[in-house]
Amino acid sequence: MHPFTYTRVSSTRDALAAGRRGGRYIAGGTTLVDLMREGVEHPATIVDISGLPLDEVRATERGGLRIGALVSMAQAAAHPKVRALFPVISQALELSASAQLRNMATIGGNIMQRTRCTYFRDVTAACNKRDPGSGCAARDGFNRTHAILGASTACVATHPSDVSVAFAALQAQVHLLGPDGERRLSFADFLLRPGTTPQREQALHPGELITAVEIPALPRPLASGYLKVRDRQSYEFALTSAAVALHVRGGIIREAKVAAGGVGTVPWKLPAVEDHLIGERPSDALWKAAAKKAADGARPLAHNRFKVELLQRTVERQLRTVGGHA
Ligand code: SF4
Repeated sequence: MHPFTYTRVSSTRDALAAGRRGGRYIAGGTTLVDLMREGVEHPATIVDISGLPLDEVRATERGGLRIGALVSMAQAAAHPKVRALFPVISQALELSASAQLRNMATIGGNIMQRTRCTYFRDVTAACNKRDPGSGCAARDGFNRTHAILGASTACVATHPSDVSVAFAALQAQVHLLGPDGERRLSFADFLLRPGTTPQREQALHPGELITAVEIPALPRPLASGYLKVRDRQSYEFALTSAAVALHVRGGIIREAKVAAGGVGTVPWKLPAVEDHLIGERPSDALWKAAAKKAADGARPLAHNRFKVELLQRTVERQLRTVGGHA
């Protein structure tokens, strides 16, 4: 492995100072250490932030939720407030990785994780994300698992995080702390589509630290859930997935939050599906008609055309599971 310097910090001030000097933050290390072993990442300095006090889950006013960046995936999934308020988050986390990884990996690290494109991890392959300007081996290679939404000529890789799909659906905000103070970004603005610079994946300023993810309050009752479709039933990334949250009052859908995973270069919010649902009465016909819109704008590659119909079916099934058979 490439030689590097390791430093452990115990305050956000020390973390930011180390980040300003170019250090890479690490907590669970489940992504970064893998990539260092494979020769994909070569940080000169690693800054261990696992001792910072960013490990709290708490309800916010009026029923929102704030999850500290250093809360482990397992802790977040099992937390009573997460389970009670937003089961879609718990389900997305429990369908991710393995139990061992969920114990180590953090919420902040999860939303920062890098793509599972095999060419990205193969240092002999052309990859604009790993080596800008070198090309994209996936475009003309084997691209069965790649994106049908949000791709560019430079990169067609999907974003691998399940819980990010739930966060995108719920319009979460990412809390950041940097040399210039605190700021918040909507989840939609935090993760970047590849465009011409696929190597830049998050809208972070140099040295900025993720401190928390906040889910805004939503009207109650709110039914929610996550469905993940994959080649095998454990320890596998999504071919397609759907995060759905519905608020139904008086027999009418008043609020709908829907996003898809496994299909986009970022977690894919589905406003056309949401708009089709709001103001309507739940019914099987409605779920089907709304889900048809999930693949609007899809541009499949040579080997992933199947994802168009699979996405529509995934969304339809999860709408029915969350909204019921009316
Ligand atoms: Fe690299 Fe993106 Fe192409 Fe995969 S899809 S090879 S990550 S540029």
